[in-house]
Amino acid sequence: MTAPYTAAALEPEATAPLIMALPKGRILEQCGAVLARAGIVPSPDYVNENTRHMRFATNDPNLDVIRVRSFDVATFVAFGAAQIGICGSDVLQEFDYSEVYAPLDLRIAKCRVCVAEPAETAGSDDPSRWSRVRVASKYPNIARRHFASRGVQADIVELSGAMELAPMLGLSRLIVDLVDTGSTLRANGLVVTETIADVSSRLIVNRTALKTQPEAIGALIEQFRKALEADFCG
Ligand code: AMP
Repeated sequence: MTAPYTAAALEPEATAPLIMALPKGRILEQCGAVLARAGIVPSPDYVNENTRHMRFATNDPNLDVIRVRSFDVATFVAFGAAQIGICGSDVLQEFDYSEVYAPLDLRIAKCRVCVAEPAETAGSDDPSRWSRVRVASKYPNIARRHFASRGVQADIVELSGAMELAPMLGLSRLIVDLVDTGSTLRANGLVVTETIADVSSRLIVNRTALKTQPEAIGALIEQFRKALEADFCG
């Protein structure tokens, strides 16, 4: 069988391939490894950071993958533009989309959502006595909920990157961001003061798509479940 590496275009829904949304950037490689264990091989261009293509065929003629920003994976799946995807639990927690079902923890891209602040102010006063605090984050909902749960109003300065600069430039007192090794924080004079949540990547599906195409989507979930079991046992 020849590899069908041509992404299908404009087919009627019944015959169109399923779309799997995958995050570009830092965890692309780890996603590729999980896909391979599940028997899914995207066209070689999928790992080419320079290509302008965003949709790629796979070795399964009924499945194409799209490469989007990690925050957008959940949105594509929630609105049914993609039926399945791989998404960080941080993003799921931030958006809390009711249409997204997350059946499997893929146990990759592990990190934490943390509160951090400059080493020199950390511990200098009691956060439970604050009434409000300014926080820079790309997670406005997670940050707001976290501080609200202890009666503190968080005024969020929403940034999409370089959060670590905010305290040193007076933009905010604290940041809420992903921390893996902690070296980015250390390089910018910041320390973790709290962990809000442990994070890993999840397989996600659109609930309506799962109801309307249970066999095709159920089979894909099963492929990932088996790959995880094999990984866990082996
Ligand atoms: P580190 O210096 O290893 O603690 O990494 C922190 C930087 O990498 C921050 O800018 C984070 O936003 C980003 N980061 C860490 N882990 C992840 C992840 N699993 N997915 C995406 N970005 C991450």
